[in-house]
Amino acid sequence: MKAISTVPGSQVLNIVEREEPQITAPDHVKIKITQIGICGTDREIAHGGRAQAEDGLTDLVLGHEMLGLVTEVGSAVTAVKPGDHAVFIVRRDCGLGYPCCENRSDMCASGHYKERGIHKLDGYMAEYVVDNERYCLRVPESILDIAVLTEPMSVSVKAVDEAVKIQAARIPGANYETYLQGKKALVVGLGPIGLLGAFALRLRGAEIIGMDIVDAFSPRPMLLKEIGGSYINGKEIATNMIDDIYGHIDMIFEASGVAKLGFDLIDALGVNGVYVLTGIPGVGRPVDISGGELMQQMVLMNQVMVGSVNASKKHNEMAIQALVDSRTKWGNAIDKIITEIMPFTDINAAIANTSSDEIKTVITF
Ligand SMILES: [Zn+2]
Repeated sequence: MKAISTVPGSQVLNIVEREEPQITAPDHVKIKITQIGICGTDREIAHGGRAQAEDGLTDLVLGHEMLGLVTEVGSAVTAVKPGDHAVFIVRRDCGLGYPCCENRSDMCASGHYKERGIHKLDGYMAEYVVDNERYCLRVPESILDIAVLTEPMSVSVKAVDEAVKIQAARIPGANYETYLQGKKALVVGLGPIGLLGAFALRLRGAEIIGMDIVDAFSPRPMLLKEIGGSYINGKEIATNMIDDIYGHIDMIFEASGVAKLGFDLIDALGVNGVYVLTGIPGVGRPVDISGGELMQQMVLMNQVMVGSVNASKKHNEMAIQALVDSRTKWGNAIDKIITEIMPFTDINAAIANTSSDEIKTVITF
C-alpha cells in the first residue's frame, strides 16, 4: 500500500510502499483511511523537526489527524463494525501504570508513551491502518465531512475541560457544567486549535474575544464573528488595553505559541481567572517580563496557569459531540475550518500551504 513517510531530521517527504497491515488479534480494527488533516506538528516534522521513527525503522509515516472507513474487525470488537466511519486517537500507553492504564496516556507520567505519526509509531498517512479497539471511536454519519477535525478539536476540548475543572473545583458553589456561562474568554491565535477552542468555549456558554494579527475581514476573524465572537487585531490594540476595553477576562486560551505575547496577556486576566496554554513556542528566545508584577497579580487574584497537551479518548468523544453540537448550533460554520482538500499525491503542496487564509488543509487517500 502507499504511505507518506519522512526520515526524521530530513526535509524530504516520500510516497513509499508499506506492507498493508492485517488484523492479528481479536481486538483489532482495520480502517481504510479517507482523510488526514495537516497541522503545525506535521509541518515541523516535514521541515526536520522533532519526530522519531519506530524502533528498527529509519523512516516514519506521517499523519495523526485521521478519518476512515472500518473495513474489518477482530472477533471481540464491539465498538465499531465494517461500514462504520471511525477515528483512531494519537497516543499509545506506556504500559507502566497510572495514568496510562486508566486510558489517560495524554497525562503519561513516565514519558514512554508513543504517538502515531510523531513519536516511535507510524502515522495515518497510509491507505490502511490497524490498531486496537480501545483507541478507536465511531463517528456519526451526520458529521463525516468534518470528522477529520476530531483530533484537533479533542486538543481544544481537553484544554477547556482541564481549565474549567481546576477553577470549578477551587471556587465554592461553582459548577463544572455551567462554569463558563456568561464568562469572558480570550482566545489568542486563531489557527485551528484557537478557532476550535472558540467553538468549544461558545458551546459552554462563554463570551468570546479572539485575538490574532490578521485583517478583521479575513476568513478566521469572520468565522469567529459567525459564532458570536468579537475580534481584536493584536497589531492595533496593546495587550495592556484589553481589560480596559473588554473588562476582566475569566479565561485565556493561548494557541499562538508566541511567548512574549502569552506573558504580556496575563495582564488582562481577572479575579479567579484561569490561563490555559496550548501553543508551543520555539525555544531559545528569552522574554522580558515584569516578574514581580506578574507574581503579585497571580497571587492576589487567585489565578491559575495550566499547560495542556494531547487528549484522552474521553476528550475525543467530547470532541465528536462538540462537532455535532456546532453543526446543530451554527450550521456549516464549523465546515469553514477546512479550507483545502488535496489528494495525497500533492503532499508537498499541502505541507507548503500556509497562506494567511489557510486554516486546515486536509489530504485524501
Ligand atoms: Zn504512561
